Amino acid sequence: MKQRLIVATRNAHKVEEIRAILSAFEVLDLSVLNDPPKVEETGSTFLENAILKAQAISELTDALVLSDDSGLEVDSLGGDPGVYSSRYAGEDGNDSLNNQKLLREMDGQSERTARFRCVIVLARGGNVLADFSGAVEGQILQRNQGEGGFGYDPLFVPEGYERSFAELGEEIKNGLSHRSRALEGVVDWLRQLREID
Ligand code: IMP
Repeated sequence: MKQRLIVATRNAHKVEEIRAILSAFEVLDLSVLNDPPKVEETGSTFLENAILKAQAISELTDALVLSDDSGLEVDSLGGDPGVYSSRYAGEDGNDSLNNQKLLREMDGQSERTARFRCVIVLARGGNVLADFSGAVEGQILQRNQGEGGFGYDPLFVPEGYERSFAELGEEIKNGLSHRSRALEGVVDWLRQLREID
């Protein structure tokens, strides 16, 4: 029987990507917990926010808990939207409004280098066990391209490719994304502990 792992997020896209990559686990979302709290992301780094989410949720269950805090860093914007990626267009915003704001902020800007970063924290019983990070470099497009993925995927072309993450599809994205790179560390770490084969 596969070991259960709860992903501490309300973002169904993240859960789907993590499930596709961590096939050795039964990857579950927050719906298996009774009324989980909405954890405020008050940290100023991806790591601080990932720790807040993993600790809070792991206090509610005996299962292994994994949190993912991630975002887009655009060089010409001094690293913005960074930890505010999900709230870039405001607390009531959404992916589409975030993308529109990003295009407005970069209007006329020829320097379009950026990267996605992901920090993953594993926790059990309120204790942080380990943290992992991954990044993928790329460029921001002048307009949305593609329908797949989520968040800033329609605006991000990874290095070495000519199409956006939203056009490349989940298999290619999951082979090179910031999230998959952080998850490689998770798999290696769990293998060393003999938690998985
Ligand atoms: P978090 O849930 O606070 O970690 O915010 C993550 C936000 O970063 C998402 O809402 C997206 O805006 C952005 N983001 C993180 N990972 C990805 C990705 O794989 N593709 C596109 N956008 C992403």
